[in-house]
Amino acid sequence: MSKEFEELDHEDMEKENFTDEKSDEVVDLREEIHTDKEDSDKKDDEYEDVCFMCRRPEHVAGKMFKLPNNICVCNDCMHKTMDTVSQYDYQGMLNYPGMGMGMSMSPEEFNKFSEQFPGISFVNLTDLQGQGGIPNKQKLKKKKTAEEKKEAPVIDIKKVPVPHKIKAKLDDYVVGQEQAKKIISVAVYNHYKRVATNTMDEIEIEKSNILMIGPTGCGKTYLVKTLAKLLDVPLAIADATSLTEAGYIGDDIESVLSKLLAAAGNDTERAEQGIVFIDEIDKIAKKKNTNSRDVSGESVQQGMLKLLEGAEVEVPVGANSKNAMVPLTTINTRNILFICGGAFPDLDEIIKQRLSKQTGIGFNADLKDRYDKEKNILKKVTVEDIKKFGMIPEFVGRLPIICTMDGLGKDMLVNILKEPKNAILKQYQKLLELDEVQLLFDDDAMEAIAEKAIERDTGARALRAIIEEFMLDIMYEIPKDENIGTVTITRDYIEGKGGPRIEIRQNSKSTKSSQ
Ligand code: ADP
Repeated sequence: MSKEFEELDHEDMEKENFTDEKSDEVVDLREEIHTDKEDSDKKDDEYEDVCFMCRRPEHVAGKMFKLPNNICVCNDCMHKTMDTVSQYDYQGMLNYPGMGMGMSMSPEEFNKFSEQFPGISFVNLTDLQGQGGIPNKQKLKKKKTAEEKKEAPVIDIKKVPVPHKIKAKLDDYVVGQEQAKKIISVAVYNHYKRVATNTMDEIEIEKSNILMIGPTGCGKTYLVKTLAKLLDVPLAIADATSLTEAGYIGDDIESVLSKLLAAAGNDTERAEQGIVFIDEIDKIAKKKNTNSRDVSGESVQQGMLKLLEGAEVEVPVGANSKNAMVPLTTINTRNILFICGGAFPDLDEIIKQRLSKQTGIGFNADLKDRYDKEKNILKKVTVEDIKKFGMIPEFVGRLPIICTMDGLGKDMLVNILKEPKNAILKQYQKLLELDEVQLLFDDDAMEAIAEKAIERDTGARALRAIIEEFMLDIMYEIPKDENIGTVTITRDYIEGKGGPRIEIRQNSKSTKSSQ
């Protein structure tokens, strides 16, 4: 009897346990929902409120009045509105039902109101429902308090990798360009050392903005992108050709900082330590022989001076130009690393001219075409040459580090095809590997691809286009036949004189199934 009892007890207990587990699950689920809500609240909490009327953020305009539909109005705007409204009675309009703080009315009320006050149009705030005020991309993240800052410094000097480590990492991705990689590793290391220590005593370390010169497709953008990824800092890539002086068609110069702010998730502090890469900088050279105002050339250079040097700049949040509808914030560019890149066509001519002029007097005079055959003439560039090209002295002066990149030869292009961690050939091999097919390239074939790329004269950028062309058929045909085990790309195939070499699997699937 007692044994039965015990068994029953046991069963009961199991039942109880079971229900307990269930209720635990329910609690878990509730907790999850709760934390989800908390998370989204927290996310919203990270952003500053922005005044619906004057678009100033909370840290500038002060505490906000919160109206329905996520609309915030700052103290000043609210007072101005109240003052204006209180001057007139609008024939008892203020006493109209529904004209409370939020001026939210039902559609019927709104129509009735419009009939009663013809010619006066008001924004009915209920129309704005669902818009949720300003989107997050136009809101700023709140600044950290002093205590939070102490806990997590944005850049820790001990964590900034030393130059040779930066270069070793760059080597994994960027082929060749040894000198450029070395210069950049040291410049970036010094820059972030300066940012992290923030030593502004008697010896002020100057900013080390960089000017990168090299033909198109030689990896300027790629190098900067890799660098930003390694250092885990926000990066904005802007095109100098789209920039114009404020007020003209095109992007304002400050828009490069807006991009950086967006890349930093609207976190001003992170943005203030990011990298800005301005491509095609040679396109904003001074225009020669123009009588009209040079709004996209010299003026842009002038406008960029203060950004490069370090200044407090008013930046539109989530837009390319300042206008009444976008909030503005202030970004200090003192710790932002600016890297300007450009192909500078014909700069080699300017260098050759200078060099032959230097030696062009007396018996030692060189023949003018002596430098024509010199391969890396760009390496001999000086500030004078760049000024002669059309960059204003103040601008060049703010880019103290000049690094030149080599044009890509056949060997380098072949290396780019196969060496880097995410080389194009490796990517295709991986894709076909998923179909259990091995993809091989003859050395000859790789050279043929490189030769074709050199003909196109767009640097490494041409490689991808060429490979895409001939890989299309392979990617289309191979999965059709399950027996194919290995595909080898040959020079003949690249040159359109034959097909790829195909080997059948030894224990092919069809033979397997027939056995
Ligand atoms: P640009 O010098 O005109 O800015 P990019 O950096 O955009 O040229 O280069 C185009 C592409 O070519 C890159 O995305 C990259 O894949 C490849 N590439 C160019 N140079 C190199 C290099 N030295 N090493 C590896 N890949 C390179």
